[in-house]
Amino acid sequence: MATGNLQPLQGMADLAPPEIALWHHVEEASRRVFRLYGFEEVRTPILERTAVFSRALGEGAEVVQKEMYTFEDRGGRQLSMRPEGTAGVIRYVGAAGGPEQIGGRLYYIGPMFRCERPQAGRKRQFHQLGVESIGGPSPAADAECIALQMHLLAAIGIEGCTIHLNTRGLPEDRPAVRAGLVEGLAPHREALCEDCRRRLEEHPLRVLDCKKESCRALVGTLPPVTAFMSEASRTYLVEVERLLVKMEIPVVVNPTLVRGLDYYMHTVWEVTHDALGAQDALAGGGRYRIDMEGRACDGVGFAMGIERLLMALQSTGVRADQFAQPLAAWIVTAGASAAEENLLLLQTLRQRGVSCGMDLSGRSVKAQMRAAHRAGVSRVILRGDDELARGLFVLKDMQAGTQEEIALPELLARAPSWMITVPGT
Ligand code: AMP
Repeated sequence: MATGNLQPLQGMADLAPPEIALWHHVEEASRRVFRLYGFEEVRTPILERTAVFSRALGEGAEVVQKEMYTFEDRGGRQLSMRPEGTAGVIRYVGAAGGPEQIGGRLYYIGPMFRCERPQAGRKRQFHQLGVESIGGPSPAADAECIALQMHLLAAIGIEGCTIHLNTRGLPEDRPAVRAGLVEGLAPHREALCEDCRRRLEEHPLRVLDCKKESCRALVGTLPPVTAFMSEASRTYLVEVERLLVKMEIPVVVNPTLVRGLDYYMHTVWEVTHDALGAQDALAGGGRYRIDMEGRACDGVGFAMGIERLLMALQSTGVRADQFAQPLAAWIVTAGASAAEENLLLLQTLRQRGVSCGMDLSGRSVKAQMRAAHRAGVSRVILRGDDELARGLFVLKDMQAGTQEEIALPELLARAPSWMITVPGT
């Protein structure tokens, strides 16, 4: 086992075979579903000006204050590694001249960075896939976004999720929500945990999602946040819920759900999965309004953590090797002349779309057969100088355990049928 300097940084991981097959499965299923809904991919830079995030997410957001990898570059610019995808996508929309120019249905897949305390299900480099549907406000667009997310989870093979739905209301509701919460909680200040006593001053809404039992009990005695909101905000939530029922998508309205970022308004939701333990959030989403250099950009979107999707998938017994794509054939060689001719055969087969491999370092036939077994191929093509002289190949069927001698035209005709098809492709 390598230690020390050969290991990646704490909270970061190498993504490699065999698990990478699961990543490909998730990414391919996602791209398929995104296409069904007319979303196109955008790849924004990992590094942005810090202000891109602090303005969009809010200076006070925990992720901005405590979790961003921020540094000054050699030119004295304040830069940050993206902690989430939305801020960069909206910056791109603005740079491209607004949603009118680009359609405004975008998705992304890629790494995000947060300097959090690493633990199970919480990494410092993790990966998200997400969408941004620019426009609105529109309850139908919010319901469509949730429907897309559920479709995606089903396409990946994840069942047993719960969607928790709530609203942040309109931005103009915020003072009333804050005042209502403070009024309800202040008499019980001493019974709140230390963090929540601070939250009561700074961000009372955050008291609602405290995990401590004593705080939850207190929160349970409060009226739902919608009680402090305007009629328009309440109606919007009811409409989103009604449309989801219409689309046969079950949701649980959860009045204590809080998505911490300032840019949210109206619909917010979170998807949880029982297999994830303490970090049970598989995905989060919501409607937002983000300032694009003086112009408001409305949209709705979600982000799902790919590491958590894989944990949920593996909890149902799915294994990476189910998605592995082994080579179809292995060419085994003996003798110098055959080795060269086999190199040409290797190239011919690959160009015809048949995946195959061959030892290129002059190993013994026995070692080559071991390599063929390791590669998990369905066929071995053996040609030594002897077969070469006779214009034949020995074709071994590794599953059936049989072998026969055949000529080149027959070999090339049969080869495409050896490809192993992978579930989900
Ligand atoms: P958030 O923007 O914090 O709601 O994150 C959206 C989703 O990304 C979460 O529901 C998780 O699935 C995932 N996620 C967030 N932070 C981390 C992390 N540190 N490590 C792994 N996954 C994460």
